Amino acid sequence: MRGDSRPVQCCVARMTKYNASIQSTLRQNLLDWFDSHQREMPWRSEKSLYRVWVSEIMLQQTQVVTVIPYFERFLERFPDVESLAEADEATVLTFWEGLGYYRRARLLHQAAKTIVSDFGGQFPKSFDAVLGLPGIGRYTAGAILSIADNQPLPILEGNTIRVHARLAGVTGDVQKSGTQKSLWSLATSVVDPERPGDLNQALMELGSEVCTPKKPQCGSCPVHGVCNAFQTKRQLELPYSSKKIRLTPINESVILIQRRGKFLLRQCLDGERWAGLWDFPRFQTDEDGLHSDLEAMVHASTGLSVEIRDTGWSTRHGVTRFKIHLRCWVAEKVQGRLRKTQENIQWVDRHKFEDFPMSVTGRKVATELDSLITSQALFP
Ligand code: SF4
Repeated sequence: MRGDSRPVQCCVARMTKYNASIQSTLRQNLLDWFDSHQREMPWRSEKSLYRVWVSEIMLQQTQVVTVIPYFERFLERFPDVESLAEADEATVLTFWEGLGYYRRARLLHQAAKTIVSDFGGQFPKSFDAVLGLPGIGRYTAGAILSIADNQPLPILEGNTIRVHARLAGVTGDVQKSGTQKSLWSLATSVVDPERPGDLNQALMELGSEVCTPKKPQCGSCPVHGVCNAFQTKRQLELPYSSKKIRLTPINESVILIQRRGKFLLRQCLDGERWAGLWDFPRFQTDEDGLHSDLEAMVHASTGLSVEIRDTGWSTRHGVTRFKIHLRCWVAEKVQGRLRKTQENIQWVDRHKFEDFPMSVTGRKVATELDSLITSQALFP
């Protein structure tokens, strides 16, 4: 039995571009399939560089069904680059709230400002200029310009890496730059000169709907006739990646600190998880989350002396590579003055929480706080 999960090396030489016959089959079959199977998406029905850009940023690490309502709400509030550039960051984050990976929203906002200051408010059409905008890499620049401006540019992201690796039987480690180079070369060789944006979308859609990681539906795949992995029965071995995603379990505690009916909120700093969003004072703890340690941490970060009590409420959630167990505590006997720090920290009326963009768990805590108060489990 093999000692690792590395796929058996294919006997054919490494393919770095599709030959003319495969290239033509891929283009034709994928475009025909896309024409009859593409899903409706708001950025497809009404295309512009701005709309496609926003959709591409939202779609990073996030599924289409999740993105659609956020996209519609965001576009209603920020219909163009100017309105986005003029907004303050907190408002932008409010409209991103719940979508996660908030850095994307901040970079989108910065890029909108750059487009207004450097390009007169017009989204640039040159690949290099787009690539120079905050939050945009090679994939995103290619996707925006091919989809919204029909420029013949290749794309390569999670779905298309899997599709090309299987179609061409690429056995190399996708974490390695040599393999990435081969995959970009394959992607470049299949770009359709007439409908580059549609072909790129077809490849991505194939990866998300048909050529899925664990259950590829090869029987109904429009390109199984030219697929190396299908022919060699290695669909589940490819693509090969040496990187194993391991979630690290961590324990955190949020503390509800109340004074004169208002609660303490702090804005997360640059470099922190959820930078720019607001949160209750939150600390990483060991598994027990000892009272005395938490009280000392509250004092060290705010200057306030508190006695804390467990509310009994907790939640588990995943953020990037962390599996977090979050416990919720309430501070009693709050004494002392709030120390002035460089942090943005405020006492906020709970009925005004809606005005403060929060992470998903921050909002969960705010909602739980409401029900705990209503049931008189807190502050009877
Ligand atoms: S035949 Fe199967 S493995 Fe090949 S591209 Fe289609 S779904 Fe993916």
